[in-house]
Amino acid sequence: MSTGNITINLKGISANWTALNAISAQNVETAAVVKADGYGLDAGRMARTLYHAGARQFFVAAAEEAAAIRRELGDNVCINVFSGHMRGDTEMIHDLHLIPMLNSFNQLTRHLEALPGHPFGVQLDTGMNRLGMEPSEWEAVRDTVVSLKPDLVMSHLACADDPAHPMNRQQLTAFCAMTDGLGLKRSLSATGGIFLGSDYHFDMTRPGIGLYGGAPFSEANCVVHISLPVIQIRDVAVGETVGYGNSWTAQVPSRIATVAAGYADGLLRAMSNNGKLWDDQTPCPIAGRVSMDMIGVDITGLNHDPQTLDILSPYQTIDDLADMAGTIGYEILTSLGTRYARRYVSQ
Ligand SMILES: *Cc1c(COP(=O)(O)O)cnc(C)c1O
Repeated sequence: MSTGNITINLKGISANWTALNAISAQNVETAAVVKADGYGLDAGRMARTLYHAGARQFFVAAAEEAAAIRRELGDNVCINVFSGHMRGDTEMIHDLHLIPMLNSFNQLTRHLEALPGHPFGVQLDTGMNRLGMEPSEWEAVRDTVVSLKPDLVMSHLACADDPAHPMNRQQLTAFCAMTDGLGLKRSLSATGGIFLGSDYHFDMTRPGIGLYGGAPFSEANCVVHISLPVIQIRDVAVGETVGYGNSWTAQVPSRIATVAAGYADGLLRAMSNNGKLWDDQTPCPIAGRVSMDMIGVDITGLNHDPQTLDILSPYQTIDDLADMAGTIGYEILTSLGTRYARRYVSQ
């Protein structure tokens, strides 16, 4: 066995949904975001797990991503598409019964012409300037849209991972100004927004990363465990170097393990001489540069030769690993790649 092993804890994912759902009031629906193949963990399996936990509203980025969820769950759930109704999406939206979040006057026109009577939602821009109708655009179409009874109006927070950021309240105020009194179902918060308080919950929340064990859901259950087989162990003398570019030099007689995974497996090169792997609860520093398929690890501190070392575990979360590589947990999860042996467990 010479590839890394990913174990995905489905029970942890259910528990995370249940915990996030419990934070908002009972009349607030908790959806589940399963874009980017369920944050790299398999959208179909994530959707099934979250369905059993209680989720009935799912969000994907692109219409193409909905097929796996529809295949898995049939017509029991609503599937919403953040990118709205793009040219070429009409058949998918129709055949898979998708709900596009219309982002512009153009998309609204396309949708009403191509699929009159087909459900839709609207995404509003409240300051992030990424997707959604601007306030003036919304004002021009608002009355028409309201008369067509959209399923949802939503917007997205740019700084929700920082509760003290003034942008949060600014976007909340903008969202209320655009949607108060219209009698429409509303959604503003992803994982971060759920922790900003009930003002931010409206009728539906849309967590993604928190379901998969990431910040800012600090109490999240660990979902992804990665253990890497040790291919070889060697002693290196003082002054010897490890890896490409000789970037690590032994200061004391050392023992180096070479593990089977590298930047081709999403273990970013930025972790070179910086990250750690773990022998259960004992950290072992990365020695030298991360290669495409291998990483050198300084196991001098261990009193035995390990067969495997962990890079994600309860002792090192996706956010711990992301910090060492100068990125975020989202990027770690969605970069893991296809070479691992994957196991889904519900223990
Ligand atoms: C990705 C995304 C979410 C989920 O965000 P998390 O931070 O992963 O919880 C919700 N809404 C929109 C519009 C998104 O793009």
